[in-house]
Amino acid sequence: MQNFDVIVIGSGIGGLVAGALLAHSGQQVMILESHTVPGGAAQGFSRQGFQFDSGPSFYCGLSDCQGLNPLQQVLTRLGESLATVVYDPLGHYHFPEASLAVYGNRERYQQAIAQFTPQGAVEFAQFEQRLLKVYQGLKEIPAIELRGDWKIIPKLITNYGFSVLKLLPLLGDISSSVGQIVDQTVSDPWVRRLIDLECFLLSGLKAEGTVTPEVAFMLGERNDSTIEYPIGGTQAIVQALVRGLTRFGGKLQLKTHVEKILVKSGKVYGVQSRKGEEFYAPIVISNATIWDTYTHLLNSSDLPQSYRQTALKTPAVDSFMHLHLGIKAERLENLTGHHVVVHDSNLDITIPGNTCMISIPSVWDQNLAPVGYHLIHAYTLEPFLGLKKDEFYAQKKREKAEPLYQAIEKIIPDLRQRITLELIGTPLTHARYLRRYQGTYGPAIAANQGRFPGAFTPIQGLYLVGDSTQPGIGVPAVAASGILCANCLLNRK
Ligand SMILES: Cc1cc2nc3c(=O)[nH]c(=O)nc-3n(C[C@H](O)[C@H](O)[C@H](O)COP(=O)(O)OP(=O)(O)OC[C@H]3O[C@@H](n4cnc5c(N)ncnc54)[C@H](O)[C@@H]3O)c2cc1C
Repeated sequence: MQNFDVIVIGSGIGGLVAGALLAHSGQQVMILESHTVPGGAAQGFSRQGFQFDSGPSFYCGLSDCQGLNPLQQVLTRLGESLATVVYDPLGHYHFPEASLAVYGNRERYQQAIAQFTPQGAVEFAQFEQRLLKVYQGLKEIPAIELRGDWKIIPKLITNYGFSVLKLLPLLGDISSSVGQIVDQTVSDPWVRRLIDLECFLLSGLKAEGTVTPEVAFMLGERNDSTIEYPIGGTQAIVQALVRGLTRFGGKLQLKTHVEKILVKSGKVYGVQSRKGEEFYAPIVISNATIWDTYTHLLNSSDLPQSYRQTALKTPAVDSFMHLHLGIKAERLENLTGHHVVVHDSNLDITIPGNTCMISIPSVWDQNLAPVGYHLIHAYTLEPFLGLKKDEFYAQKKREKAEPLYQAIEKIIPDLRQRITLELIGTPLTHARYLRRYQGTYGPAIAANQGRFPGAFTPIQGLYLVGDSTQPGIGVPAVAASGILCANCLLNRK
């Protein structure tokens, strides 16, 4: 029996941020993580001297102490910082017709687009201007100050009244989908598809389903801050948060799968692990997905039925096929780190296998691979229900990974002769290692069709963080969800 002020279920970025901020404010925090390593989607793993990322690798503003990235603001508060490599362009989008360099710098990006479509580049600039007004308006309010309850309103008025006034004329754009702004500014079909691709990479949805502030921040940050990769890989971010947590007395216990959230008379009082250990606290924060929390961690009678059913009906973005490779690096001196390959322009970009993301982080940090080698992580969306562990699993796994090999061959034509280590992951692998419902990327809540839920639940003392909650999917967003939750709890009394 162990007592704490706060128990956090899961050490994804959302859980670590909430836990570390609460520990920083003097709360006794225990984070219970099911896996052997922290980080969730952002965890790293090593095989045969290769240090792989399991998920994210695109970042902006990780090391700028004055920057807008919520994760960076949290690290600064915790007294932590990251060593990074700054690079530009962010990556290359490879279409069947040609490749586009995606520069952070606005003018350079527009010039690159103009090589495909001069008129489209003009329209893209108009679209971007609309979004940048939203970015300029929102950026005056630091993410670290935000909170996820009504008390944000007096706080904003008192501390940022002028900034809030400036936002009023932008409310229409802030609450609209990117697709609505595209419809008003862009008719060029090539640029419309490019914007769909940018949105899809961010939210898992095309422009019509993606909320405007998300893309406004992406475009604004790319230009105004730096595009960076953390030395040591994405796990360096996780390690910095864990250091911040423990330095302020917070605890992280790995290999502890929470089986049940303990609730009595509508009030949370702790959790029980799979091994039967009980941990008590008046506050429990779940970093598991909304589907996992409401299906497995609570009894159905703990929640009002209509609330539970509505929450569980939230649509989910598909899962992923993953390919992790170690390859010989000779004669690849000009290799760059990020690529997105669209195999067929006539097919929808969201069709599994058609859009493949590739990250080669050893071009930025050579220590991630043995001397003379590179490591590659490629992934593409794949539905969870398409694969099961039967006698065809091994063969199907190979077939489903084929678009990923072919995508990397666009960058490294003799790829297959170079491979020294090969790991194929399916949605089943993703769900297992990330402990996520159907291995989903996150909720598919389209703009104008609903909002991500906040940190609060109908159970007193039970809160949610992570990509099932506002503001949504992605490392900066889930860091923001941790801030929104922690600040509500800190200023509760
Ligand atoms: C392939 C891929 C690429 C991505 N690329 C990018 C990118 O380039 N840039 C970017 O910003 N974002 C990217 N993202 C998105 C980003 O990584 C995620 O949105 C974010 O990391 C999710 O964090 P989270 O806190 O919501 O939860 P998660 O990462 O899902 O963590 C939840 C944690 O809770 C633990 N847990 C669950 N249930 C229990 C339980 N019952 N008991 C104990 N522990 C439990 C899990 O083991 C896990 O560690 C990518 C995601 C993926 C999958």
